[in-house]
Amino acid sequence: MDLINLKNVEKKYKNGVTAIYDLNISLKKGSFTFVIGGSGSGKSTLIKMLYREEKPTKGQIIVGGLNVAKLRNKKVYKLRRKLGIVFQDYRLLPKLTVYENVAFAMEVIGADKDTTRQKVLKALEEVGLKNKVHNYPDQLSGGEQQRVAIARAIVNDPKLLLCDEPTGNLDPDMSMEVMKVLEDINKARGTTIIMATHDKDIVNKMKKQVLSLKEGRLVNFSKKGTYRNESN
Ligand code: ADP
Repeated sequence: MDLINLKNVEKKYKNGVTAIYDLNISLKKGSFTFVIGGSGSGKSTLIKMLYREEKPTKGQIIVGGLNVAKLRNKKVYKLRRKLGIVFQDYRLLPKLTVYENVAFAMEVIGADKDTTRQKVLKALEEVGLKNKVHNYPDQLSGGEQQRVAIARAIVNDPKLLLCDEPTGNLDPDMSMEVMKVLEDINKARGTTIIMATHDKDIVNKMKKQVLSLKEGRLVNFSKKGTYRNESN
């Protein structure tokens, strides 16, 4: 079953730049997909359209049965509850502990204290940080901060995890730790993962399906792909 379906999707920004041209893709539930391509190829635009930060100018986007472009603003929360998002720069709250940063995502949806505690500790265990619950973000390495951000993104059990250059600020060792965590989440929870990245080593090592963009166009979509030179 597909979780995501894009039909004839185009995104043209107000300044006249077309970031995505006529994109048609479907992604199965439980799949792990890299979105690759050089700077400006449309990776972030694609991710942003999936969580309705941007709307396509043409075409249809279905995520988990929701017609994303047509959703009214007051219904966008229905989409946001189906997904978690991880950014390059972690976006943790500096004055909250690791536990509180993750719990915050649950308080927002009104979860009770016991459920929150149970889910927060489970998510932190999955990212290997159960021993750092009382630390503050500035007491953690970059890789650890990103793993907190991942715990926060999965704590509400989303079907979809969107990651925009999650290893962009990390050295190769920390990057691999983050990738291991993402792979475990994909396998253990069945969460569908879409990750935009520049990092050739990661893409080549992980052997996941690869959607490659060049100047806004899909140039290759391969199973167990590698980072091809043509999409640099
Ligand atoms: P990538 O993530 O692959 O670097 P982006 O999706 O950020 O690519 O950008 C694709 C193209 O769209 C680029 O030409 C970029 O300058 C343009 N673009 C991105 N965001 C905006 C925006 N908010 N307004 C206008 N143009 C944008």
